[in-house]
Amino acid sequence: MAIGTDPRSEDRIPVIYDRSHPGRRGVRLPAPDVPPLDEAALLGPALQRTAPLGLPEVAESDVVRHYTGLSQLNYGVDTGFYPLGSCTMKYNPKVNEWVAALPGFSRVHPLQPEETIPGLLELMASMERILAEISGMDAVTLQPAAGAQGEFTGVLLMRALIRARGEERHTLIVPDSAHGTNPATAAMAGYRVAVVPSNARGGVDLAALKGLLNSDTAGLMLTNPNTLGLFEDEILEIAEAVHAAGGLLYYDGANANAILGEVRPGDMGFDVVHLNLHKTFSTPHGGGGPGSGPVGVKAVLEPFLPGPRLQRDASGRLTWDHQRPQSIGKVRSYYGNVGIVLRALAYILSHGPEGLRDVAHTAVLNANYLRARLADRYPTRYDRSVMHELVLTLAGQKVRGASALDVAKRLIDYGVYPPTVYFPLVVKEALMVEPTETESKETLDRFADTLAAIDREIEEAPELLHDAPHATPVRRLNEAEAARRPRIRWAPPADPSGGPAAP
Ligand SMILES: *Cc1c(COP(=O)(O)O)cnc(C)c1O
Repeated sequence: MAIGTDPRSEDRIPVIYDRSHPGRRGVRLPAPDVPPLDEAALLGPALQRTAPLGLPEVAESDVVRHYTGLSQLNYGVDTGFYPLGSCTMKYNPKVNEWVAALPGFSRVHPLQPEETIPGLLELMASMERILAEISGMDAVTLQPAAGAQGEFTGVLLMRALIRARGEERHTLIVPDSAHGTNPATAAMAGYRVAVVPSNARGGVDLAALKGLLNSDTAGLMLTNPNTLGLFEDEILEIAEAVHAAGGLLYYDGANANAILGEVRPGDMGFDVVHLNLHKTFSTPHGGGGPGSGPVGVKAVLEPFLPGPRLQRDASGRLTWDHQRPQSIGKVRSYYGNVGIVLRALAYILSHGPEGLRDVAHTAVLNANYLRARLADRYPTRYDRSVMHELVLTLAGQKVRGASALDVAKRLIDYGVYPPTVYFPLVVKEALMVEPTETESKETLDRFADTLAAIDREIEEAPELLHDAPHATPVRRLNEAEAARRPRIRWAPPADPSGGPAAP
């Protein structure tokens, strides 16, 4: 397709205005056979446009080709390998999309009387039960719409229980390797954040944790396996210490594919957990949602869950119970993101317990296979076997003149989505790779070979790395500017002869 040139940079992005020709139209409507409206009288002068709108003048085929071309610039898990650490961009079976789109589900109105949707309520109740079983919890709410919202809900539940016990506690502890949403959630809920350092093995430093625990500790937020992909093997001691100080344990279960069917947060001593149905259970993460972050709790926290809750009446039918005097209140409108819940339910039921265990085994096997294949050029920071993801340190590459960002950008030229970079912060020049369970050995081998080839380029052709990516219409972005002053629409160059106005 023709690619227009954005005059303000050397980036080459397709621009529909480049296809514009005066007078060209997609459709021509017949002349009206009724008198024209008197717009001036209807709108008044203040609302009338004084200059033309400045729309591109194009044929239907121009529009279709422009947008189809743009759609083909998208990279997704349906087009290639997407090893984005901590985000679980795995392939999701399309049959689950079909299930969620069945008209009996997709045409339900959120304000429809509950007695007209007994089937949907039954499925939601089964999902609550299944997620409770998977996480080792006693009760689950499907309301939160994202992982971070699940965290916020969970922390409010912890606070409600602590207050119901007649206590005030103001500090939440998070490890220095934590996902950024954990300290953000704690702060949003009004807590002071205390950071516990990692020990030499990449786990929570138990002695340092014990030093932080006191009567002001509301709890500890933890991911296990943590964001380094490492299993916290002292978890039972950690849980005991937090509970002994009167605190609660929050489990960030955003990426649960490493533990499915093998370990349960409830059995590790956690009191609250959120799961990301996007990421782990058949909805891709990214693209701005929608998501679903159900929260599971131990029985002591159940009275505080967001209302309404599903309950069975005397005849065994499910209804919504709004009488929840201790509830923290609703955290989202209506029933939550039901479509995501349905996909996840289809995914879980079609896998069954053995299939879910296979998911965990393959996720862990794939990550460790990559770790072994990459070890000579790209070591992990901690010399231990990993769970579902691995964090490489490119400190060695940095000394030779290429940063983790250079390597990540160069991967794009090879057709691979760049892994997460510079996170977690405890690893220098971090490249965080999550291969996921749905990738074949051939894909993993190709990825390892590609990283080895890029490593050789550092000496042979360093500019290939520094200027990467080369093959994309938009080259290397100034990431701080892109976040702070995003330019999200195109404006035509100023035209003194009176060309189209800025859209
Ligand atoms: C993705 C993620 C979250 C946040 O989930 P969102 O749905 O993006 O809000 C929290 N913790 C960890 C470890 C994650 O990977």
